[in-house]
Amino acid sequence: MKYTGAHVSASGGVANAAIRAAEIGATAFALFTKNQRQWRAAPLTNDTIDEFKAACEKYNFKPGQILPHDSYLINLGHPVEEALEKSREAFIDELQRCEQLGLTLLNFHPGSHLQQIDEDACLARIAESINIALDQTKGVTAVIENTAGQGSNLGFKFEHLAAIIDGVEDKSRVGVCIDTCHAFAAGYDLRSAEECAKTFAEFERIVGFKYLRGMHLNDAKSAFGSRVDRHHSLGEGNIGHDAFRWIMQDSRFDGIPLILETVNPDIWAEEIAWLNAQQTASAVV
Ligand SMILES: [Zn+2]
Ligand SMILES: [Zn+2]
Repeated sequence: MKYTGAHVSASGGVANAAIRAAEIGATAFALFTKNQRQWRAAPLTNDTIDEFKAACEKYNFKPGQILPHDSYLINLGHPVEEALEKSREAFIDELQRCEQLGLTLLNFHPGSHLQQIDEDACLARIAESINIALDQTKGVTAVIENTAGQGSNLGFKFEHLAAIIDGVEDKSRVGVCIDTCHAFAAGYDLRSAEECAKTFAEFERIVGFKYLRGMHLNDAKSAFGSRVDRHHSLGEGNIGHDAFRWIMQDSRFDGIPLILETVNPDIWAEEIAWLNAQQTASAVV
């Protein structure tokens, strides 16, 4: 079973995200549980939590079909102690919000070394941040997203994801989300079925599908290997349609949220319908 959807707006309350997802024919969705550009948010009220759970039940979204994303401000590998502390506190708050909403996954970008510490030191800090956060929460898996490698962001190599997982004590509560645009911009080719097979064989070898908890399905405005993160609508960018058809026909992507973060929300319903149709479209050769 494939679960397809998009990162929908939660404005007006998190329950609205489930409603908006249902409106576009989604069977999965992503959301921010607070304003992603602010450090602090009011705690979730019991009413908000109840409304969210009721909406998810009504539209048949189970926790494994929902992939919340944390704030963009958080840097779990921050080189400066005080700033690292602030990020760790905010990350724990994000996990607790997920816990309260009955959610089991939290998707985040690993972190940046800001040219002040080396890659290995930064990856170790990220793993330690995850350990601290998992220790203080329960039931939610930390889902590390691969990045395009813009600036000093780590996570653009599968080896980075593997190194972080390696440093996490509770392997049952760490996973990864692969963003196709980020992978492509980072130099993992996806432009044909053959290239997709190669890229995901490498993913299997270095990280392993057993850690895959979600996918971000985005075409790329940015060029192959450019390390620039610019999403595009499916089939309109430099990746092209084939990769997305290939993913929809591979059972290793079953049972996890497959989330669009494509640039035109007006066509999300069409993109979801197109993705779903690929499961029975003639096989990619
Ligand atoms: Zn993404
Ligand atoms: Zn992106």
